[in-house]
Amino acid sequence: MIDLQSQGRYRLDLLSFPIVGAILRWKHNRTAAQFVLFGLAAAIIVDGFWGSPLAAKNVATVSAWVHYRGLVVLGLLVAGNLFCAACPFVLPRKLAKWLGRPTQRWPRALRNKWLALAGFVGIIYTYELFDLWASPWWTAWLTLAYFATAFVLEAFFTRNSFCKYVCPLGTFNFLYSTVSPLQISARSQQTCRDCKGHECINGSPSQQGCQLELFVPTLKSNLDCTFCLDCVKACPYDNVALVARPPGDELFRQTWPHRLDLAYLSLLAAFVGLINAVAMTPPIYDLERQMAAWLGTRSEALVLGVIYLVAAIGLPLGAAYSAAWLGNRWNQNKDSLNRLVMRYAYSFVPLGLAIWLAHYLFHFVTGAMTIVPAFQTLFADTLGIPLLGEPDWSIALWFVPSTGSIQITQLVVMAVGTLVSVHMTMRAAHGANPRRRGFWLEALPWLVLLFLLAAAGANTFTLPMEMRGSAIGG
Ligand code: SF4
Ligand code: SF4
Repeated sequence: MIDLQSQGRYRLDLLSFPIVGAILRWKHNRTAAQFVLFGLAAAIIVDGFWGSPLAAKNVATVSAWVHYRGLVVLGLLVAGNLFCAACPFVLPRKLAKWLGRPTQRWPRALRNKWLALAGFVGIIYTYELFDLWASPWWTAWLTLAYFATAFVLEAFFTRNSFCKYVCPLGTFNFLYSTVSPLQISARSQQTCRDCKGHECINGSPSQQGCQLELFVPTLKSNLDCTFCLDCVKACPYDNVALVARPPGDELFRQTWPHRLDLAYLSLLAAFVGLINAVAMTPPIYDLERQMAAWLGTRSEALVLGVIYLVAAIGLPLGAAYSAAWLGNRWNQNKDSLNRLVMRYAYSFVPLGLAIWLAHYLFHFVTGAMTIVPAFQTLFADTLGIPLLGEPDWSIALWFVPSTGSIQITQLVVMAVGTLVSVHMTMRAAHGANPRRRGFWLEALPWLVLLFLLAAAGANTFTLPMEMRGSAIGG
């Protein structure tokens, strides 16, 4: 095993900071954070069912589609998987486990990301089909469905199977936390070698171990880590650290060379991010009308289904396997196409995150202050208790930047994401062909694909976008 600290790779440990460290180690920190978000989820359900049907006036739509999404991507960028750490959907877990007393392990055939990937594409498709961003009522139902699914699965299966294998939101967070600057790590590998109980994973009588079945001394990645810090509290030797590291470290190191599910997830998440952003711009409406005419149907479910099947699944996979085939030919090697897809798909993670970030930042900065009058409306109109005063909609306009500055920021984000992806692609090509001078020929088709995706994203962010969920957009 490699002693990361003694090698000086990861030096900065947040757990050793005086105040931050004490808060992070506090036994009840996760539960406290979960109760805060649980209260917010309750507000979403109450206002979604009984509040204003207008998206911009309702806490359900504003908090779920403006704040949650914006804060999640920002959290991933500057720290790590903060939402999973405070996830309210698994707060009723103890009750579910007590009621169900689960003994079943999650089926072996499903211990991968295929189900979660399907759920992720499905949830983005549902978002467009039911206009979730505009419907407090559907948003409340989605929140309830999430609680119910987590509860039922927790009651049947041991460990945190819902988080690891099913949850689409967690899957998004797991994927993009690979770019985050913080990671759990062992302080001393020697201490771990001498450790007999392995409490960080097995738990102790007073503290459960890692329910995601991650073993601290072998951790090389943020993938599947919910940042719950159970391992920190369970280790009897105080040997777990929360370290600062180079963002995207595991992606550069090609940590999963044999995981086709993760490779597809990396690839498709980037393209789904683009479609999700394009869906807010005028060209998508023309496309939907044309598709409906071609298919001779008025069914939006069918039209959107075809668009998602082609643009979110068929096109990226077709493009990736074409790039792999071309790379093989140009570099004159005989790697399997799947091997090449698994080598280069992770390069789409930084660009994918840039697309999601540029998109969600737009909503967040244009709608951030809408949450104030939305909560005022919840208390004054829905609950009949004007605790926060009468709704003042002028507050929604505070701190909203100009369209030009938002677009420049989005393009900068896209440029940075593209550069990191290109660098990652070249590293992957060189790593796989260390003695070949023409190694870049294998990477060339992938670079073209990255540039096309980046250009499509940049073009999308220069188009007028719907200000969904914001009082400015209505
Ligand atoms: S319990 Fe602590 S010392 Fe033991 S293996 Fe886990 S991190 Fe290492
Ligand atoms: S490694 Fe630690 S922080 Fe990460 S999921 Fe497991 S117990 Fe939680």
